[in-house]
This record gives sequence, C-alpha cells and structure tokens, in this order.
Amino acid sequence: MRQIIVIGGGIGGLATAYRRRAIAEARSEEVEIRLLEAGQRWGGVIRSTTEEGHVLEHGPDSILRTKPAGIQLISDLGLSGEMQETCAGARRSLIARKVRLLPVPEGLYLMAPGRLLPFLRSPIVSWPGKLRMALDLVLPRRDPLASEESLAEFVRRRLGQEALDRIAQPLISGIYTADPEQLSMVSTMPLFLRMEREHRSLILAMRLRSQEAGMAQASGPRYGLFTSLRGGLQTLTDALVAKLSTASASGRSRVDMRLGASVTAVVRNAGRMTVALEEEYLDADEVVIAAPAHAAGKMVKTLDPLLSYLLVTIPYAGVLTINLAFQRQQIPQLPEAAGFVVPAIEGRTLIACTLASLKYPERAPADSVLLRAFVGGALHQQHCELSDGEVLAAVMRDLRDLLGIQGEPTMVRIHRWPKAMAQYVLGHAERLQGIRLREKTIPGLALVGNGYEGVGIPDIIAQADQAAERLGSSDQGMPPPMQGAISRATTV
Ligand SMILES: Cc1cc2nc3c(=O)[nH]c(=O)nc-3n(C[C@H](O)[C@H](O)[C@H](O)COP(=O)(O)OP(=O)(O)OC[C@H]3O[C@@H](n4cnc5c(N)ncnc54)[C@H](O)[C@@H]3O)c2cc1C
Repeated sequence: MRQIIVIGGGIGGLATAYRRRAIAEARSEEVEIRLLEAGQRWGGVIRSTTEEGHVLEHGPDSILRTKPAGIQLISDLGLSGEMQETCAGARRSLIARKVRLLPVPEGLYLMAPGRLLPFLRSPIVSWPGKLRMALDLVLPRRDPLASEESLAEFVRRRLGQEALDRIAQPLISGIYTADPEQLSMVSTMPLFLRMEREHRSLILAMRLRSQEAGMAQASGPRYGLFTSLRGGLQTLTDALVAKLSTASASGRSRVDMRLGASVTAVVRNAGRMTVALEEEYLDADEVVIAAPAHAAGKMVKTLDPLLSYLLVTIPYAGVLTINLAFQRQQIPQLPEAAGFVVPAIEGRTLIACTLASLKYPERAPADSVLLRAFVGGALHQQHCELSDGEVLAAVMRDLRDLLGIQGEPTMVRIHRWPKAMAQYVLGHAERLQGIRLREKTIPGLALVGNGYEGVGIPDIIAQADQAAERLGSSDQGMPPPMQGAISRATTV
C-alpha cells in the first residue's frame, strides 16, 4: 500500500488529499493517506461560524469564478446548489477619502479608467491628479529589458503618485495586504504589464477592454465574478472533510485524519521519506507540504537547505478580521455596496471593510447589519499587536467617521491571522522558479500553498490538483515500495 502524507489541513491540504484519493481510486491503486494538521480544526484560514442568525466569515469570503479550479471542486463535491452570488444591488465598491466613501468610477479596473466620463466626474482623484493620469496617453513604453518594477514604481511612472495613493494602493495592495513599494508587478499584475507592452497606454488598453462584455459596467472588483457558499466558505472545507472521512466504496484507499499533529521535519531515509512529528516518525512514499511557506521551509531544513532558505524568506504579513453586527437603524448612512477600502494615506487603522450582509444574501437577520473590518497587512503590522479593546476602539472610531454609526455593536468577533498573507515581493518569480526546481529534485515531494503561484483559493486548489496529478503518475512520484516491503508508522 502506497503511503501518502499531506501536511496542513487548510484548503490546500484537504483538496490535495481529496484529489489524490480520487486518482488512486480511478487507477485501482491501494493508498493510505495521512492528513496531518497542527491545529485543532480543519480549514486553515477558511473559517465560518453562525452566531445569533449571522453568518460570520473570519477568513476569506469569496471565490473567484473565472479561475476554474475553485468552481470545479465545488461542483465535484455536489455543492453547486449552495453557491451564492453577490447581491445585485451591492456590486460596487467604495474608496474612503477623508470622511466620505466615494464609489469607484464605473469602468475603472484596479488602477486605470476604462471610461473617461465617469472617471472625470469622480472626486476620487483631484484635477491635477487626473491630468497627471492623462499623461499615460502619451508616455512611451518602458524598456522591456529593464529591471523588475514594484506596483508603486509602475503606477507612479504611468499614472502618477495620486493614482497610486488613492486608487492602486487601496484596491490592489488591499488584495495582497501588501506594501506597494515591494509588491512585484510581474508576479501579481502581469495583465497591466501586458497592456503596456501591447498598447503602450493603460488608458487606451482599458478603453479597448471595456468594450468587452462586462467591463463597461464594472466598478472596482467585478463582483459578478465572485461566489460564496450558503453558510459561508467553510461549507467547502467541511464537505472535503466529510468526503475524506467516508470510507471508499472499493476499500482500496484509507484516509487517516489527525488534528494536533504538528510536523517538525521531513527527511529522506533509505530512499523513502520520513515525516517527523513531535513524538512520532511516519514513513511515506509521497509527501505534500500544504502549510504556509515559512512553516514548510522549517520542515525541509535538513532535506534541502537551499529549498528551505527560499521558502522561509518569502515574507508573510498578519491580518485581523473583526465581524461587527449592528441594528439597521444604527447606520443611517449605510451605502449600497459590497464594501470599501481605505487608502493608507488616510492614516486610519481600518484598511478595508466588507458590508457582509449587503454583499451576500442570508448573512444577518432582516433588522441587523453585519460588517467585517480588516486591520493590519504589510503596511500596518503594528496594528496587529493592539489588544482586542484597542483595536475595537480604533476600528469603531473609523466606522463612526465613515458610516456615521451610532452606539455600540450588538456583536463583535475578532480573529487574528498572524503570518497568513504571503507577500509577492520583488524577486518572487525567480524565487518561485528556484523553489519549483528544487522540489523537482526530490522525488515524491510536492509543495502547495499561498506562497507560490497565487494567494486566492482557486489558485491553491489548482496547485493541489497539479500536485495530486504529478505524484499520482508513477513516473513523477517516488517509485512504489518494493514487493513485500511494508511501510509502517514508527512510534518512538
Ligand atoms: C483574512 C483573509 C481573507 C482572505 N480572503 C480571501 C478571499 O476572499 N478569497 C480568496 O480566494 N482568498 C482569500 N484569502 C486567501 C486564502 O484564503 C488563503 O490563501 C488560503 O485559504 C490558504 O490556504 P492554504 O491551505 O494554503 O493555507 P492555510 O489555510 O494557512 O492552511 C495551512 C494549514 O497548515 C497548518 N500547518 C502549519 N504548520 C504546520 C505543521 N508544522 N504541521 C502540520 N500542519 C501545519 C496550519 O495550521 C493550517 O491549518 C484570504 C486570507 C485571509 C487570511
């Protein structure tokens, strides 16, 4: 029986185990899959709870539909009927400017306007700022051989400082909770680099793109492209756990799922691999590390010091989510939107806020409003150190200014995610190439997670699919153990 160990019980580890078992079943292969999770629950940063009629998302809340791996997994798990679209009335986002929340102008996509009139009418950028952005129409292309640029350098060069401060920083580095001076354009926004290469001007390229279906109506993120699940995204990881916990019909594959199993090292041992837990060693033919890159790096320190170095030097930022419920009448200025972002230049604690009960249906009782505030990220790491009381007071100050909230929340849930958001800083593409090259030299090893080819849930599911495929094809994984050799768990 082939021994497979998957380390990490977030979406990456769960999806890998699920796919690997499906491949084994399809090939009539006998496998034992051990899924090892250090924490006391499955799902990693995906965590939803239902409290007092509110569906709280403590981590992510949306899956991008355009990257097919996420939707495919939802469908394979029989969850298509549970999918929820963003509410039609709330498909726009807002950007804070002083105490106002201004709609992202129609047609503006992340940094560049696709339609001129709505953009010119918007007070998001001052008139001098708009004139500077218009220079993009005449500025030459950058030398394609010049060195890698950060988001800040790219936007400043093409559209000016104000477009960076007021639009690109909150909208783009908000997604990555990143420092725009460090965020690699090539690893995060290759579309805009391509636009410059092909059309020279981003504004001209955007105008062409805005004629394509859907873009003309877009205001900020294209909300129609996102989905969630009834009961929150944990419905997805719960379904994976339920499937993995069910014995296979053929009896050929076994899954052993362990919580509280913290892996300290992965080493090679007589041609196979050994996974060290705190008090136990487990042998394996295949090992998938689906933990954050900083944790994966520690595990492979002896196995491959260079790989370890490349992994531990991927920076991660921490973030806090704060779910807050209010009575509807406490928020007289509640805008119709999915949420808003706050530019760093505003100097607030709040970096973004989802109007959760407006964004997705059935998230709060009719007379209640559910908000989800974000704090921290690479630009505001110091705010992650605030006590619950301090962070709540600061967030409430910002929410009172921006939404005119009266009184205190009826419910507050603060969740801390330290070192959870991978930062694709300058040099990420080369580092990633190095990681994937080193990984290939260790047969039977696969790395899955948000430190590599994308931070979004569908990106990670796609990596899980690829890892399961690669390891499941006998020429890529480690050869199966010799006839008669029984792989076993060794307890010390
Ligand atoms: C607040 C927040 C909001 C987000 N919003 C969105 C969104 O709306 N849409 C979207 O697509 N993405 C979003 N993301 C990103 C996305 O959710 C994550 O990138 C993704 O879920 C990470 O999945 P993962 O399985 O790779 O890692 P994780 O979920 O971090 O799981 C890794 C697991 O490995 C375990 N582990 C670590 N070390 C060990 C060890 N030594 N031994 C055993 N186990 C170990 C951890 O305990 C953890 O459970 C968000 C992220 C956060 C934090």
